[in-house]
Amino acid sequence: MKNVKKGHSCPVVCLDAGHCGKENRSPVASDFYESEVNWKLHNFLAERLEAYGISVRKTRKDQKTDMELTARGKQSKDADLFLSLHVNAAENANANYILGIHMVEDGCGEIDAQSKQVAELLANAVAAIMGAKPEVWTKRSSSDRDGNGYKDDYYGVLRGAHSVGTPGAIIEHGFYTNRAQAEFLLSDENLKKLAEAEAAALADWFGLQQKEQGSSLIGNPYKLELVSIRRGSRGAQVEALQALLICRGYSCGKSGIDGSLGPETESSLKQFQSAMGLDADGIAGPATMKALLGYR
Ligand SMILES: [Zn+2]
Repeated sequence: MKNVKKGHSCPVVCLDAGHCGKENRSPVASDFYESEVNWKLHNFLAERLEAYGISVRKTRKDQKTDMELTARGKQSKDADLFLSLHVNAAENANANYILGIHMVEDGCGEIDAQSKQVAELLANAVAAIMGAKPEVWTKRSSSDRDGNGYKDDYYGVLRGAHSVGTPGAIIEHGFYTNRAQAEFLLSDENLKKLAEAEAAALADWFGLQQKEQGSSLIGNPYKLELVSIRRGSRGAQVEALQALLICRGYSCGKSGIDGSLGPETESSLKQFQSAMGLDADGIAGPATMKALLGYR
């Protein structure tokens, strides 16, 4: 693992859904409210991060509660990373770039460097899914957005995160003033693709990916107990799950142990769960993994 604070057994990410209630309606797609899309996306991202063994904290308990910007950033105290998820707006209806924003303060080398890396890597990951160009903006903490001589609250979330020693970034997932992008973001399937791409990029940044690929987890049940895997999960944990299912006489389809949790593996997983009297939800969490490993 890398980019985690001392004493953490897994990375901790604080997710902020940006805005609450019904805020920022799209002028070109009337069903679209930025606040609602951000909220869904942050929930999908939380699920995917947890599947990689990353612990997630959310800044707000429910979608309707408003919370001051700096306070949201400060919710990331003791976390390894703070992320605020957004969709941009512009007067130009053709604006479509993907934006990562990070903040720099003088004399905070490591936090600032990590913030920049994350802004870049997530802008790239989102851009690849949405087929648009990535951009990264570096803002000083003293940004005066409207030129009134005062620090504005626009980047308050990042200032709040920084004040508690957590690197952070704001990610703008395209523009809701752009019809094609607003429509793209109205699809849950597309939001899930974004969540998967962002989670994979972050797992890699935390050094989790390599660990999964580099070592067999079959002989390490304690490791397996740490993560929940489900439809769409990939990697060594899925290979271990498939091997255990096959050992118990369940088929994982023609491709066998392929490290990808598809419909056939999911169906076997559900059969196994119901045979064991477990919740047949197709999600291999601690109880299912223990049962597969023969724990009682
Ligand atoms: Zn926003």
